[in-house]
Amino acid sequence: MSALEALAQRIATCQDCPLGRTRTRAVPGEGPERPLVVFIGEAPGYHEDQQGRPFVGPAGKFLEELLASVGLRRSEVFITNVVKCRPPDNRDPLPGEIEACRKYLDQQLALLRPKVIVTLGRYSLARFAPRESISKVHGKPRRLPDGTTLFPMYHPAAALHYQGLRSVLEEDIRLLPTLIKQAQEEKAEGVAPHPQQLSLF
Ligand code: URA
Repeated sequence: MSALEALAQRIATCQDCPLGRTRTRAVPGEGPERPLVVFIGEAPGYHEDQQGRPFVGPAGKFLEELLASVGLRRSEVFITNVVKCRPPDNRDPLPGEIEACRKYLDQQLALLRPKVIVTLGRYSLARFAPRESISKVHGKPRRLPDGTTLFPMYHPAAALHYQGLRSVLEEDIRLLPTLIKQAQEEKAEGVAPHPQQLSLF
């Protein structure tokens, strides 16, 4: 069993916060073990809680459409959430729940070592840039201190509630292939990223 699979098993039986008692299934995340890109959402909803898989409901359908619009399949990227268990009635995750789950996302990212991290929504953005507002920084890549590219996007579920955000998400994701290409070139050359290569927030 890989370290990532062992981690998923620990998540599946976690009781470190009260969500462990109300969930049906934990949702560790899924995708290749060496992905270029990791997508991070907020928390599982009803369908995810039933199936134990991330983004399998309406928001997931839209996410798959967004991926397809730039020539990506969901099996090519790793998809996970800030919080691995469904908050009752899909309420926002509480600070204590986010904190209890923090270690799991940290460990996943340490194992996956993606070149590009796409945050979906404000909870996921807050994990990397707590003082930034999603309305200001969506669609704008930034380099994290470790060289990873952070690419904040609105949450796909937000576009299901506010139709106007649909085109914003469709527009923002169009930059993703460029970010992936840049990361692949850097990987091939083995060069350290130049901090000025990407526009900052
Ligand atoms: N919304 C999320 O943030 N994550 C999921 O897995 C599904 C819906």
